Amino acid sequence: MGTISVYLHILTHLIFTTAFEDGPVGILYFINEEVKLMSAAISAIHRAVQLTSRRWLNLQEYQSKKLMSDNGVRVQRFFVADTANEALEAAKRLNAKEIVLKAQILAGGRGKGVFNSGLKGGVHLTKDPNVVGQLAKQMIGYNLATKQTPKEGVKVNKVMVAEALDISRETYLAILMDRSCNGPVLVGSPQGGVDIEEVAASNPELIFKEQIDIFEGIKDSQAQRMAENLGFVGPLKSQAADQITKLYNLFLKIDATQVEVNPFGETPEGQVVCFDAKINFDDNAEFRQKDIFAMDDKSENEPIENEAAKYDLKYIGLDGNIACFVNGAGLAMATCDIIFLNGGKPANFLDLGGGVKEAQVYQAFKLLTADPKVEAILVNIFGGIVNCAIIANGITKACRELELKVPLVVRLEGTNVQEAQKILSNSGLPITSAVDLEDAAKKAVASVAKK
Ligand code: GDP
Ligand code: MN
Repeated sequence: MGTISVYLHILTHLIFTTAFEDGPVGILYFINEEVKLMSAAISAIHRAVQLTSRRWLNLQEYQSKKLMSDNGVRVQRFFVADTANEALEAAKRLNAKEIVLKAQILAGGRGKGVFNSGLKGGVHLTKDPNVVGQLAKQMIGYNLATKQTPKEGVKVNKVMVAEALDISRETYLAILMDRSCNGPVLVGSPQGGVDIEEVAASNPELIFKEQIDIFEGIKDSQAQRMAENLGFVGPLKSQAADQITKLYNLFLKIDATQVEVNPFGETPEGQVVCFDAKINFDDNAEFRQKDIFAMDDKSENEPIENEAAKYDLKYIGLDGNIACFVNGAGLAMATCDIIFLNGGKPANFLDLGGGVKEAQVYQAFKLLTADPKVEAILVNIFGGIVNCAIIANGITKACRELELKVPLVVRLEGTNVQEAQKILSNSGLPITSAVDLEDAAKKAVASVAKK
């Protein structure tokens, strides 16, 4: 789920359920707090616009290339294989002068990656189909680590076996939904193939942008200008412009948030070809892109979200370093908001919901601390139906059994809070108590800054 939709989802949830969830016991107490939460919620939505989501649907290269070729974009002929034998057969069937074998993972930088089988490089060129088989054997079932993966890499389940083409020039082309432009923008560089971030840093004048009016669509003059900026000349220029136009139309049609082609290349025979493809999709468009979302390869999904669901916990990953453990969607959003206001960034939030059991609290801590990004935990629980003493017992149990290594800031309020505070302070554990939300956020942010 995208961050914005998370916030919207939470806001809806807040409006329709929070007041009722906490029942008649908490409701009077809530009214004042609720007003504060609402304003926090709205500013959180505004801020969410600046947040980058980690959760746009991402497809494998072979899936993206299928969409591209179905829409008139030029890619190489290819097959997909999930065993070394299939890869060998595919290589023979291609009957090509040269073959390129590519590990399929949802991360870039494969060319320079390393497998835990010892094999170097997630992209290999060879003329011999037998070599394809041998290489595939060292790819499938092994982890490939690249600059964009976690250290241990990502397991390769499939390889792409494609007809290799000679490349005379590698350029870079991307189409993004860009917030600062309030719409789509083409980004290109004649210096492709390599790390585009490096080009942007060392030669920013070699990065070209073309802002597109989403209502008018891409103009031919814009596509031509980008093609020229990418260094395509003669007949190649109009061919590149045509490919750029088709890529833009595809981008729009499939509700993509990003289409990145690196290299967007040129062959000595005079063809413009998309040698690589990375497409991200707007998760809010799932309802009208059912075929695309059905391709979602869940094997690389965050296992933590699936794990949380098992215990009836809602986990949402964000990209900061403070884990938030809360009950109720409104409080989740307000907690995120107040962390931002105090200069911090939430790593995630885990919503405990109503009717809490001690074991769930334990599981929640286990999940939160499993995320290596987490440098502090902020517990912000408002006890309506939820009994704070149960939470406190769950927290102390989890702290002891999991040997918690990161600072823990706890703010509890509501039913049975005195008892809860006693449990925490008598535990002898290094738990920082906070008196209110603001205090909790300040303490959590400070504990991270100290490290
Ligand atoms: P990435 O490393 O994950 O971005 O994977 P790419 O698909 O971009 O492949 C890495 C590099 O391999 C490219 O930048 C090209 O230089 C090279 N490459 C990929 N396909 C071909 C091909 O068909 N022919 C040639 N000559 N080089 C290729
Ligand atoms: Mn690439």
